[in-house]
Amino acid sequence: MADPIRGHSLLSHNTFAIDVKADWFFEYGSEEELLAALPRLERPLLNIGAGSNLLFCSDFHGTVLHSAIPGFEILSDDGESAEVRAGAGLNWDSFVERCIANGLYGAENLSGIPGEVGASAVQNIGAYGAEVCRLISEVRTVDAESGEIRVFKAAECGYAYRDSIFKRPENKRYIVTSVVFRLSRVWKPNLGYRALEQAFEGRTPSAAEVREAVIALRDSKLPDPKVLGNAGSFFVNPVVPGPRADTLSLLYPDMPRYSAGEGLVKLSAAWLIDNAGWKGQSIGRAGVYEKQPLVLVNLGGATGEEILNLARTIIADVYDKFAVELSMEVNRI
Ligand SMILES: Cc1cc2nc3c(=O)[nH]c(=O)nc-3n(C[C@H](O)[C@H](O)[C@H](O)COP(=O)(O)OP(=O)(O)OC[C@H]3O[C@@H](n4cnc5c(N)ncnc54)[C@H](O)[C@@H]3O)c2cc1C
Repeated sequence: MADPIRGHSLLSHNTFAIDVKADWFFEYGSEEELLAALPRLERPLLNIGAGSNLLFCSDFHGTVLHSAIPGFEILSDDGESAEVRAGAGLNWDSFVERCIANGLYGAENLSGIPGEVGASAVQNIGAYGAEVCRLISEVRTVDAESGEIRVFKAAECGYAYRDSIFKRPENKRYIVTSVVFRLSRVWKPNLGYRALEQAFEGRTPSAAEVREAVIALRDSKLPDPKVLGNAGSFFVNPVVPGPRADTLSLLYPDMPRYSAGEGLVKLSAAWLIDNAGWKGQSIGRAGVYEKQPLVLVNLGGATGEEILNLARTIIADVYDKFAVELSMEVNRI
């Protein structure tokens, strides 16, 4: 069994490319290996996947745990739908690619999202009119405090927009080791998102074509973390009471707004940041991406504190201008 590594650099374990260290780093390839190691790991513990939604603001004093649990196994298949168990360490986009190659549908709109299968169930990843919680049947975890296995049915995971119970501080004890997904055997494209519908102009594309179109759209809008450090959308879209949105709509008739349930309206964080004048701006080595103002970027050698300072300055400025409070999607460590 591998031993924890002391004083490990996390530079290649976070897509923001923040240069910090963990006192200890432990990577495990199976649930058994994790269970055997748990009693001797220095606390606190921090689970990471590919680090594509993390912002390290300092060195981590404890043990950073990374799952390298592989696996893609079809558990059941009745010709209409099939259940697949995927290991937490499997790259998310490889999972989507394998689903399509096996004639299993439902994940193609989520193509190209960075990260691993374990975190997909924590984050409830979503894009282009799809959300992973609609595909999840169950999430298998190890309880780091008791050393016991606990399986959560999807209904127990508290899924909401980019949210789950696994994000609550009291549930950080649950280490995701595998996820069971239910996928369809019947191909029905989800072209509800306008840019996707336009890409196919009324014809029915194959799942592989939808995947390609999604990846092309993403590449045209989002910076490649290998070139410009980032963690995707830094902020979530704010949800405000209807009357607040109505007041803003009077002042800014072009402002996008979407219904978010009874009496509530979802606003576009990108629009608010752009219209506060932040697109393409920077403070020191931290910047706002010029093509997508939701994305904060590391212009080279930035610290987590510098990125956080830019984020807080934007939040204060957007609040001054629109009286809307933005909140951060990125997990700050
Ligand atoms: C360029 C870019 C584009 C992006 N586009 C999107 C997008 O379109 N939609 C979207 O939803 N997200 C997007 N993201 C964000 C990111 O891809 C997702 O949040 C992803 O799920 C993070 O996966 P990860 O493996 O990197 O997890 P990490 O960032 O390492 O961790 C994320 C969270 O999950 C927890 N975690 C990780 N693994 C485990 C585990 N095994 N057990 C328990 N907890 C765990 C961590 O503690 C942390 O709280 C984007 C990011 C980038 C850089």
